[in-house]
Amino acid sequence: MKKYKKILIKKREFSCKDINRLMPEFLDDSLDGTNLKKFMMHAQVCENCTEEMNVQFLIHEGLKQLEKDDTYFNLQKKLEDRLNEVRARIRIRDRLVTFMSVVVAISGIGVLIMTMLVIAKFL
Ligand SMILES: [Zn+2]
Repeated sequence: MKKYKKILIKKREFSCKDINRLMPEFLDDSLDGTNLKKFMMHAQVCENCTEEMNVQFLIHEGLKQLEKDDTYFNLQKKLEDRLNEVRARIRIRDRLVTFMSVVVAISGIGVLIMTMLVIAKFL
């Protein structure tokens, strides 16, 4: 009980908001002294902050890894390719719609001419 109370008091020293604010510094290893100690005291006992730290750490390390090799560049290229592919698909679709409109219009004129011819024959 006493230990639990102690943890709660220590936890109060840094709020979740503080941890969130200091997370980038912690991940960059630029947090030191009292701040680092308080950070650890809170982060070790707070489930929310532990979870947040896990996510932030994965993102942080992931980005570092991406910058290290060509993965980041490759991903950008992949996105560019995908965008180009989508643009091409939209262009094709637009052309198809235009073509179909022309076909429908021509068909309409055809039907109109046929109707007029049929009517002319019976007059
Ligand atoms: Zn917290």
